[in-house]
Amino acid sequence: MPDLISQFIADYGPKIVLTAEQISNRASSFWDPRPICAKALVRPTSTQQCAEIIKRCHQVGQIIITHGGLTGCARAADTTPDHIILSTENMTAVEEFDEIGGTITVQAGAILENIQKLTADKGFYFPLDLGARGSCTIGGNAATNAGGINVIRYGMMRNHILGLEVVLADGTIISSMNKVIKNNAGYDLKQLFIGSEGTLGIITKVIIKLEDASNNCQTALVGLDSFSSVVRFLTHMKKSTGSRLTAFEVMWGNYYNAVTEEGGHNAPMDRDHPYYVITECSGTDPNSDAEIFINTLEKALDENIILDAILPKSESERSAVWTIREGFGPLLNNAPIFLYDVSLPIKNMETYIDEVQKNVLAAWPNSVCYAIGHIGDGNLHLFILPKEGDQSLHEKSDQIAYGPLKEIGGSVSAEHGIGLEKKAWLTHSRSDTEVALMKTLKQTMDPKGILNPGVIFDL
Ligand SMILES: Cc1cc2nc3c(=O)[nH]c(=O)nc-3n(C[C@H](O)[C@H](O)[C@H](O)COP(=O)(O)OP(=O)(O)OC[C@H]3O[C@@H](n4cnc5c(N)ncnc54)[C@H](O)[C@@H]3O)c2cc1C
Repeated sequence: MPDLISQFIADYGPKIVLTAEQISNRASSFWDPRPICAKALVRPTSTQQCAEIIKRCHQVGQIIITHGGLTGCARAADTTPDHIILSTENMTAVEEFDEIGGTITVQAGAILENIQKLTADKGFYFPLDLGARGSCTIGGNAATNAGGINVIRYGMMRNHILGLEVVLADGTIISSMNKVIKNNAGYDLKQLFIGSEGTLGIITKVIIKLEDASNNCQTALVGLDSFSSVVRFLTHMKKSTGSRLTAFEVMWGNYYNAVTEEGGHNAPMDRDHPYYVITECSGTDPNSDAEIFINTLEKALDENIILDAILPKSESERSAVWTIREGFGPLLNNAPIFLYDVSLPIKNMETYIDEVQKNVLAAWPNSVCYAIGHIGDGNLHLFILPKEGDQSLHEKSDQIAYGPLKEIGGSVSAEHGIGLEKKAWLTHSRSDTEVALMKTLKQTMDPKGILNPGVIFDL
């Protein structure tokens, strides 16, 4: 009897099934350049084919790890040589654009940026936006409940999804392709899969609710003297611009300096401010929206809430401003580097970061801790660079970053998920009874444990 891979190659052909050797030149992920390892990579072209492949894997207890764009930050798609990878890269089609209902139906492998562009071309707006837009997939965005820069106004991926199609561990197709906003006919099953990191089913299609396109966007980069000014500025922006506020991203001064050092990005503003904020508003009336935005910034300057502000005059200037926030590439050359995505009440943020920075320095005298974040959503990202040692420092670094969170009602994962990386810390943010229910769901829906086993928790 030929093994499963040989059977797959015979039945689906070499375009669908790639062998271990054929994928050895692929990188493990955006974050890990080491070659990927697995028995094989299958890339079905339809839900039906995906379901058939999963069913056959289920019959023999073969583990399957789902791959989207591999930009996830929690090592939720890591593989070992005995895994089969199911990649959605051949499922990228847009199946329907409903201009009356304002929805788009896409296959899970569609790249986020392509969907953003396509919807914009049709006069709509898909607000999910993140630095990995050019590589991450809609299926991956759903599986991780991605957040990003527009959450303050539009919410996370969960808020954009009306319907889903999923293949369960035994190959059953659940078509929950709802297109209406109101549907209380029993459990809202799609919510089970959103943010489940590929552990409960493979998402094959998504129906996304679109927003009306705004025809203008105002951006400013602002310098501030203290964290309390950052908080005052956030309140001021919210009150004065109302529902126009779409982004409010803070960068601690040391982060801004590090990414604009010689050889890094151009600094659009002086490098000596303790804090920087990128803020954006959008609306439907270019004249009054721009006026409100400028008046709000002028008032903030007059009232000494902010020290300086620059307004990009073109799309390329706007993009240069966002590059500072999103282009943290220069930092990644300092191995080991530990990245964090935490959430906590805004009122605790300054003390929390001070404590982390103090403890990092106490542990490693040459170390640095950079912080940025979507603070309107209570979400901070930290980069801890010990400037010595190796990956073995990860555990100590985790203790420093996660340790204080429980007491202040924070979470060890704001938007990246738990993956393999944070599972030791899951109970820091979820109660034992919550974790027990999660495990019951997993055992019920995937009793053989073939879908991303070990991700989020061990059974
Ligand atoms: C530069 C950069 C910036 C980022 N910024 C943000 C940000 O602002 N906000 C944010 O939330 N994240 C951010 N991320 C993280 C990442 O982009 C998101 O988690 C994204 O949603 C992952 O999508 P993906 O297609 O790359 O998924 P992958 O990395 O391929 O997979 C992630 C998880 O989803 C599962 N999965 C993928 N596709 C499917 C599917 N079809 N069905 C079931 N499970 C599936 C995988 O098995 C894995 O568990 C950033 C990453 C980078 C590199």
